[in-house]
Amino acid sequence: MPAPTIGVLALQGDVREHLAALASLGAETLAVRRPDELTRCDAVVLPGGESTTMVKLARTFGLLDPLRERVRAGMPAFGTCAGMILLADHVLDGAAGQETVGGLDVTVRRNAFGRQVDSFEGDLDLVGLDEPVHAVFIRAPWVEEVGDDVEVLARVDGGAAAGRIVAVRQGPLMATSFHPEVGDDARIHRLFADLVVEHTSGKS
Ligand code: GLN
Repeated sequence: MPAPTIGVLALQGDVREHLAALASLGAETLAVRRPDELTRCDAVVLPGGESTTMVKLARTFGLLDPLRERVRAGMPAFGTCAGMILLADHVLDGAAGQETVGGLDVTVRRNAFGRQVDSFEGDLDLVGLDEPVHAVFIRAPWVEEVGDDVEVLARVDGGAAAGRIVAVRQGPLMATSFHPEVGDDARIHRLFADLVVEHTSGKS
C-alpha cells in the first residue's frame, strides 16, 4: 500500500510549518486549497491561524462541506489552535454564528487564556510521549468539556490555568491548543502520522 497522503489546509495560518514537520517524518504531504486536493488526501491537518477567517475561507473555497463529510466518514484529522476550534463540535466565545467543521465531541473556549497570558510557553506531559513537550500557546483555546469517547492527552501543568485540557484524541481525530509545528520537535506530528497509518491501513 502506498504511504498515506497527509494534507494541510492551506487557506491561512501555519501551513508551511506543518508541511515541514510532516515532511521531516518522510510523510507524503499536500497543501489543500481546493476540493479536488482534499479528495487526494488520506488525512488532513487544520493549522493554527484565525478560526473565523479560516472557516469563512473554507466556505468560499468550497471546502467546508467536503471537510465535514470526510471527517464524518472517518478521515484522520489533526487540529492545532485555530484548527482545534475548527474540529470542535461546540465553541464558546466564538464570533456570532461561527461555524466549524466539527466531528470532535468537545466544547472549546476560544481565546480562553485571557489577556495576561495571551501567549505563553511551557513544558507539558503528553500521553504517548516519554519526555515533556515544549508547548507554545498563542491566543489559544482550551477544551472545556469532553464527550465520553474523547481521551485527554495533556493538561496545563501550573499557573492560573492549571488543569485545563489542551490536547485530546477521539478515534482518528487529534487536537492541541498549542502549536507543535513551532520549533523542531516533530514527536506530536509523529503521533498523528501513526494514527493516520492505524486508521487508513487496509483501505485503498
Ligand atoms: N485565537 C485564534 C482563533 O480564535 C486562534 C489562535 C491561533 O491559532 N494561534 O482562531
